[in-house]
Amino acid sequence: MADPSSMDQASPPVPDAPDPARAAALLEALPIAAALFLRSGMLYAVNTLGREWFVVDARAPLTSQSWGVVLLPLASAGSALLEAVAAGNAPVSQRAPLGREGRIVDVRAVPFDRELLLLTATDVTGQDEQRAESARVDRELSALLSLTPSTVRITDVSGRIVQSNAIANLEHPSRSPATVRELWELDAPHDMANNRPLSFLDSPAMRALAGNVVLRQRLEVRRLGAQRVIEAFAAPIRNEQHDVTGVVLLDRDVTDRERLERQLHEREGREAALQEQVTHEREHLDRLVEERSRALIASQEDRLRERRLTAVGQLAAGVMHDVNNALNPIMAAAYLLRHHAESPDAVRDYADRIQKAAEIGAATASRVGRFIRQEPVHAGGDEALDLSVLADEVLDLTEPMRLRRSSESGEVRIVRQFASRASTRGLPGEIREALLNLVQNAVDAMPEGGTLTVRTFDEGGDACLAIRDTGVGMSADVRERAFEPFFTTKGSRGSGLGLAEVYGIARRHRGTATISSVPGRGTEVTLRLPRAVGSEPQLALPGATREAVIPQYILVVEDHDDGREFLRRILQADGHRVDAVGTCADAREKLASSAATPYDLMLTDVGLPDGSGWELVRHVRRHAPTVRVGVITGWEPIAETGESRGAEFVLRKPLRASELQAHIAGSVSPASKTE
Ligand code: ADP
Ligand code: MG
Repeated sequence: MADPSSMDQASPPVPDAPDPARAAALLEALPIAAALFLRSGMLYAVNTLGREWFVVDARAPLTSQSWGVVLLPLASAGSALLEAVAAGNAPVSQRAPLGREGRIVDVRAVPFDRELLLLTATDVTGQDEQRAESARVDRELSALLSLTPSTVRITDVSGRIVQSNAIANLEHPSRSPATVRELWELDAPHDMANNRPLSFLDSPAMRALAGNVVLRQRLEVRRLGAQRVIEAFAAPIRNEQHDVTGVVLLDRDVTDRERLERQLHEREGREAALQEQVTHEREHLDRLVEERSRALIASQEDRLRERRLTAVGQLAAGVMHDVNNALNPIMAAAYLLRHHAESPDAVRDYADRIQKAAEIGAATASRVGRFIRQEPVHAGGDEALDLSVLADEVLDLTEPMRLRRSSESGEVRIVRQFASRASTRGLPGEIREALLNLVQNAVDAMPEGGTLTVRTFDEGGDACLAIRDTGVGMSADVRERAFEPFFTTKGSRGSGLGLAEVYGIARRHRGTATISSVPGRGTEVTLRLPRAVGSEPQLALPGATREAVIPQYILVVEDHDDGREFLRRILQADGHRVDAVGTCADAREKLASSAATPYDLMLTDVGLPDGSGWELVRHVRRHAPTVRVGVITGWEPIAETGESRGAEFVLRKPLRASELQAHIAGSVSPASKTE
């Protein structure tokens, strides 16, 4: 409000001019220093700020004060401007210092009406520096914004875009958006997270204007005429009072990056799939190989099993055939015996026939036995041998047979190639048997004659013997099966036991028998036995001769009723005193109760219902060491150590009375103990 004292009601009204009070009120409304002057140069009205800044005498009438004085604080600027305007020039303005306060004011003079001129002064102190400073900041900011690969826009509080960088300006070449609303319309954003068009109110700019910070919102937008994927960021700009005064919008185009990532991912996926396929193929291949090998092994096992079964079947059939052949005459003779019991000649005749048949059966059994029974020859039960000596003997033995063959068809020539000594240890009877079989086979293989070469030699710690013929030879099939018992290609002429026996004998002597053969050219069978070192070879002892029987007190242990009874009778027939029992328990009882007159000998079977004969042997050794022990066994293998040690002799079934008698008499050399 103007000071009422300044209102000089007494001053004469100016024609056409507003009344001074109204003019003062008008000036008072202005936020700047203002004064109205008459064109004559006298002051007419002034506002409060004008009174402060200019030289106004409050006690003198305004119209008595000229602008030359009033506007003194503006140096000469104010009056010069007023004069120019009064002279009819266009309104002008000028910067001017205000008094000595260092303040800068913007002074303007304009014609107010016909009579009055208006002068205003606005404080602009520091405005230039501020403007320069803000221009510098603006330049720095735009330099910064030009560097970022993202789009940047800055808006004011109304959403008007006040600044944007070069990239932003490229995005919508047809129309540069002036507001965030226009930007939203041009972008037509699609909210990818929720898969729906993004409403304007949910746009990053609007959310930032509402005071939120938006971080990495994925949007699909229409830019540069294509669909692009962007990640949008937005944050409010606030003043000191924390009011939102604008927003910064930033987004970056991730279309290419995401496509690359997708491609990379797909490629990785493809590579992984490829890798997996390779692994799969390899596993498949491995499985295939495994299956094939398993099938192969299985088929080989099948073939082996079949061969084994065939061999076992053949063995059983062969045994059955021979046993039946032996039993036939025995049964017939037994039947006839009963009808001719009164004739001593007939009885003797049938008894002879029975014995002969039984001998044949026993021989077959012992030949099979030589194949089956592969427990090694007992140390101490063997003797030093020279294969050359034995081979010579066998060739002599078979000479009649060879001569017969030579006269019937072709001649069989003999070639002897003997090493000076081929020493081994073993049972001469068995080795002779083996050589006999080999010579027989060789002669059989040369129906038109040929050469039979017998060699003995030392090789790698073995004493060897090879019998070679120039005969028919063997096919691979025959060679593979030749060692099987009862395998023969000679029909009813062959037994099929020869090579089986050879094989069993070689094994029992810890040696080997091998065949090499070429069909049509000939065959060589080689026996290799461990070489004996040091001891001189001896010729086999002649068989024991029958001596006078010294009666003994004998305990027989045998669970088989007939066997026990026959044994008792044979022994009693020889004048011995016999007790016979069927179990281990009974045997122990007998041994315990016979302390007064102890037994001279115990003869025990191995397989007993309540234990093994070997247990009884140990029992006797411990409790009645003076009693001699003999063991009778079927085909049970005899362990090499320990078990047999307690027995003086071991006999195999079927028993021959003469053998038994020799052993009881104690006249058998230890060499043939296990025979
Ligand atoms: P066998 O002589 O009674 O037939 P072997 O066991 O001695 O029985 O022989 C078995 C088979 O092996 C014979 O039938 C024959 O086919 C074959 N064989 C054995 N020795 C010879 C050989 N020296 N030359 C050709 N074949 C042989
Ligand atoms: Mg034979």
